[in-house]
Amino acid sequence: MSEYILEKDYFVKVIRDLIVLAEDRKDYFTELDSAIGDGDHGINLSIGFREVSKNIETWKDDSIKDFYKEVGKALLDKVGGSSGPLYGSFFMKFGIPVKTKGPDEGVTFGEFVEMMESGVAVIKKRGKSTTGEKTMLDTFVPAVETLRAEYEKGTPAKEAMAKAVEAGKAGLESTRNIVATKGRAMRLGERAIGHLDPGAASAAEILEVFYNNMPD
Ligand code: ADP
Ligand code: MG
Repeated sequence: MSEYILEKDYFVKVIRDLIVLAEDRKDYFTELDSAIGDGDHGINLSIGFREVSKNIETWKDDSIKDFYKEVGKALLDKVGGSSGPLYGSFFMKFGIPVKTKGPDEGVTFGEFVEMMESGVAVIKKRGKSTTGEKTMLDTFVPAVETLRAEYEKGTPAKEAMAKAVEAGKAGLESTRNIVATKGRAMRLGERAIGHLDPGAASAAEILEVFYNNMPD
């Protein structure tokens, strides 16, 4: 059996789909943020990905690392709020594990796992946060831990990513019962109970885009 490879095209298509997602889900993410934050999460993502969409044609021939670095920089530069810098850093660090690869080189499943871990590690670091604080990490951390575990077990890539997405969704659901200890929802205390975290919701949909585009 030949090795599973994710080509550069995959990584470009993911970003194209995230541009669409940010528009389609803008109202939903904003509605979630209206309940426990300041009602701008959907707007923030939309501003960021519109900036990405303006420049994607000029970056798409770069290496995966440089392409994702530009995406991350656009989010960091254009988006206020906490999610801009956090998602910006995620994309900036995403390509680091494959930084030596040229624009025509794809990545193995093992490398893809490392890329996800690299992105999530920087969110933890910059957010000074971890799971159980009612943030995007409640989605990202279990998803990436599941991805790593399935990879180590030898589960085929797409099936492993499906399990990772499911673990992320379970993490998202868990945010309903968490009192926030990071981000704006902190101020609400117990009143945040019953509400999903907006960043955890967008993270789950972003992971699903990575999954949907994976070849079998
Ligand atoms: P802001 O909170 O500045 O208005 P957004 O509304 O765009 O920014 O994003 C809010 C989301 O950012 C939250 O739902 C949460 O998931 C995430 N978030 C906020 N602070 C942190 C943090 N310190 N670590 C991880 N995620 C965080
Ligand atoms: Mg907000």
